[in-house]
Amino acid sequence: MDTNIDGVYLAGCAQGPKDIPDTVAQAKGAASSAIALLNKGKVKVDPIVAEINEDACSSCHICEALCPYQALVYDEQKHVMTVNQILCKGCGVCPSACPSAAIQLRHYTSIQIDAQLDALLSKRGESREERTVTEKVGV
Ligand code: SF4
Ligand code: SF4
Repeated sequence: MDTNIDGVYLAGCAQGPKDIPDTVAQAKGAASSAIALLNKGKVKVDPIVAEINEDACSSCHICEALCPYQALVYDEQKHVMTVNQILCKGCGVCPSACPSAAIQLRHYTSIQIDAQLDALLSKRGESREERTVTEKVGV
């Protein structure tokens, strides 16, 4: 019944061939899930979503074809890709696929990932520059 898009549910032949009892059971389940969502009143969304640097986007559409959640929408007037931040699940596919490096994942930017790797690989808190010197000297 659930789909990979929050709030969208499937039942019956929309999912595949099935008989009437199965269809009715699925429809009840889908309706219950929808009511449970509506009863919450507010829905929290994950803050880790893709962000696009419009100045760097070359309109190649590569990211749009790869997004498994259909969260990328091309703006025909501005001629840039945009992110529907409600649909985006922060999976990381589009930032790694963008040939123009126009997409960053909020809270997982290249600078932040570099800093995490630096911290992970450093000995006694030494910086990347210090580590390079140490490796060259062979200490
Ligand atoms: S892959 Fe990058 S450059 Fe291409 S449309 Fe998407 S954001 Fe723009
Ligand atoms: S991070 Fe994943 S879900 Fe979000 S827009 Fe990019 S490909 Fe789609």
